[in-house]
Amino acid sequence: MGSAYRLFYDSPVDLVKGRGVWLYDAAGRAYLDMYNNVSCVGHSHPAVVEAIARQAATLNTHTRYISESVIDYAEQLVSTFPAALSNVVFTCTGSEANDLALRIAKKCTGGSGIIVTDNAYHGVTEAVARLSPSLGSGVPLGAEVRTVAVGSTQAERLQFGQRVQLAANDLKRHGVLPAALIVDTIFSSDGVFADPVGFLRPAADVIRREGGLFIADEVQPGFGRTGEALWGFQRHALVPDLVTIGKPMGNGYPIAGVVGAPALMDAFGQHVRYFNTYGGTPVACAAAAAVLAVIESEGLVENAKQVGSLLDQGLRDLARQFGMLGEIRGVGLFIGVDVIDVSTRSPDPALASRIVNLLRQDGMLISASGPVGNVLKIRPPLVLKEAEAGMFISAMHDILDLLTQNTAPLTGKGAIT
Ligand code: PMP
Repeated sequence: MGSAYRLFYDSPVDLVKGRGVWLYDAAGRAYLDMYNNVSCVGHSHPAVVEAIARQAATLNTHTRYISESVIDYAEQLVSTFPAALSNVVFTCTGSEANDLALRIAKKCTGGSGIIVTDNAYHGVTEAVARLSPSLGSGVPLGAEVRTVAVGSTQAERLQFGQRVQLAANDLKRHGVLPAALIVDTIFSSDGVFADPVGFLRPAADVIRREGGLFIADEVQPGFGRTGEALWGFQRHALVPDLVTIGKPMGNGYPIAGVVGAPALMDAFGQHVRYFNTYGGTPVACAAAAAVLAVIESEGLVENAKQVGSLLDQGLRDLARQFGMLGEIRGVGLFIGVDVIDVSTRSPDPALASRIVNLLRQDGMLISASGPVGNVLKIRPPLVLKEAEAGMFISAMHDILDLLTQNTAPLTGKGAIT
């Protein structure tokens, strides 16, 4: 395998099996998965496995034939969006969905300028990598891309719209018409910012006034993670022009897409042919339909709210006891925790990495994100139970205690390797 891959953890995990929120390594050791949002209804959920197997044993073609099951799923999916957003185009990945959304935005607005957040990630194609500053200096931004800060305090985030206005002004000053503002509505790679409720709305108004579209990238918060609604943008009381979805959509089976109003889809689709061989196959749609059904039948949006609030509470208690935890942010089962140096109160990515690796040694999987990598990113499958959230808090407690006493290295539980 090529050298662009990066493994998680100082001591990588060799996984062979997954069930619910648990992953198992080759030696049979169990890990509590506090990180994987793709398997939103739990690893190897029987309803999803059965739907994939049944459809694979029946028929798998593509969107150049009529497949009732694909149309049924498309209808179910768009019915979960505001009424205006009643068309979907299927892709295989979130990157392809964002790539297509940009093509639609450029075609429909006549503009080419794109505004993103300072540490955004929108995917791997040539076009979307050029508007993903979190990829670092090895991946240059496009000349027609402008970045804006999300804001590190709630007061600053209330000014987000003003910063988008300045970015639009700068584009126009360089002779570039704005085509879109695209944001991950939970701002995962920027460090997880859910509050204040509604802070995104003025920014969406600004980009529309400037002739561009507002694209909500729901690849991370979508499908109920916020514990409030199926879609992250709903927290901001706005209706996007285009919505891109992916990751949890098929619980691991590749399916993603762009949802939008028919007028926009027509303005693009009447001139452009779009055929994505594996986008929206009957098997992909069977997996995705099973995911939607399980989210509904198992009450997973409500579960994300309840268990998410317990986790949040537990983390806040820990932050009161241990100075190395700073601000706790997020909503539902998407939580970001700032790790800071106790004496300087400044971001401490090395300490965050130490916590992530100690948790891994204890059989708990999370990761870190944010511009400097000091934000613990906690984002378990939506089926996490209260007792499992408790296990995680207790493991965190022991590790923070250990780090406070600075008795490392230990052996056995909590060992630093
Ligand atoms: N947008 C966001 C916000 C993402 O987090 C990701 C993946 N991490 C993508 C787009 C790209 O999705 P994919 O990896 O399926 O191409």
